[in-house]
Amino acid sequence: MTESRAFWSVEHEQGQPDLFVCMKCLSEVFRSQLPAEGCPTCGSFSSYEAFTLEDIQQWGTEELIHKAQRLSVTCSRSENETSPSSEIEESPS
Ligand SMILES: [Zn+2]
Repeated sequence: MTESRAFWSVEHEQGQPDLFVCMKCLSEVFRSQLPAEGCPTCGSFSSYEAFTLEDIQQWGTEELIHKAQRLSVTCSRSENETSPSSEIEESPS
């Protein structure tokens, strides 16, 4: 992935699930943000639903769970550890 992507930030209430899964392809998950250009895998814009990590772990594919876990870990720690795959690029809105 070399292209840069823009993301919308998604507001969610405290205590609400903040992991958004693309229900169309079930292979993309985002945390508190959604890609402005639609799902990178299937291009869908409006098929995201919010889940907790626990939910995803119950029905998600191994890859999806792995992505969700990585997103959760990244956010609860300091952002010093930027992942080498720089697929997340935040744009100032
Ligand atoms: Zn998708």
